[in-house]
Amino acid sequence: MIDIYKKLPGTNCRECGESTCMAFALKVKNAQRKLSECPYVKHEDEESLTQESVVTMENNYKRVSKELEEEIKLVDLKEAADAIGGNYHKGSPEATLSASSRSDSVGNSGGVIRLKMMNDEYEVRNEGLFKGNQYCHDSWSKIIIYDYVRRKGNISLTGDWVSLGHFHDAASHTKAFQQKAESKIAEKFNSDINGLKNRCKELEGVEVQSEIKADYVCGFELLPRVPMYICFWEADEEFPASCKLHVDSSAEAYIDIEYLAYLLEWFVKIFVE
Ligand code: SF4
Repeated sequence: MIDIYKKLPGTNCRECGESTCMAFALKVKNAQRKLSECPYVKHEDEESLTQESVVTMENNYKRVSKELEEEIKLVDLKEAADAIGGNYHKGSPEATLSASSRSDSVGNSGGVIRLKMMNDEYEVRNEGLFKGNQYCHDSWSKIIIYDYVRRKGNISLTGDWVSLGHFHDAASHTKAFQQKAESKIAEKFNSDINGLKNRCKELEGVEVQSEIKADYVCGFELLPRVPMYICFWEADEEFPASCKLHVDSSAEAYIDIEYLAYLLEWFVKIFVE
């Protein structure tokens, strides 16, 4: 973190949306921000850190996912499954064998949690994340799911549908991101509400009769306890289409808001493909 901090001007100007340069450096270290998001970082400084292999984003993602994987070894998966809406299974023979051979794994029950992130099925074992019975090498999938499991959110949905900007922890770039993601959907489906409905169906969205006054509202599950609504207003003669992505206000108990922003971005990328 200090290596990163040394490349920043130290003026705490807040233009990046963080309250201090140190807070920004910490987020870069934790793969939640990119060094280039500070407008005052010199290109050559960014490159030198990259060459030293200190803060390449990919290295950061790997390191953070490894750190979280270590934490997962200590999590009681049965207890966590109840708290996060995952399905607990006593575990595959391999998982149980592997678990019983590791005496250092305090929370290791040898079981597995099966859950869906968007439309993909994953299995969380104490030894890591698996997809289709293969170890998952995607750092972001691991970061988001491990964080979700270790937090054991365990609170009820509130029924309040809010944008990311509602959350205390959401930095300004997170809010800007959401607007960008929303406008991608609005632009793609501008006056084609049927196209939007079909895309929602393809991705297993469910039309919702909500209090939100929109032309169309469709619900998705980003994670078992992190539902999301796409709210869409079709273009008319006066205004272009607009779109809002809302999550339940309980989301911050389940997932880091920066990771949630990434997950929404990921969702939108797939949605407009
Ligand atoms: S924009 Fe750069 S200089 Fe300003 S607070 Fe953020 S990290 Fe520090």
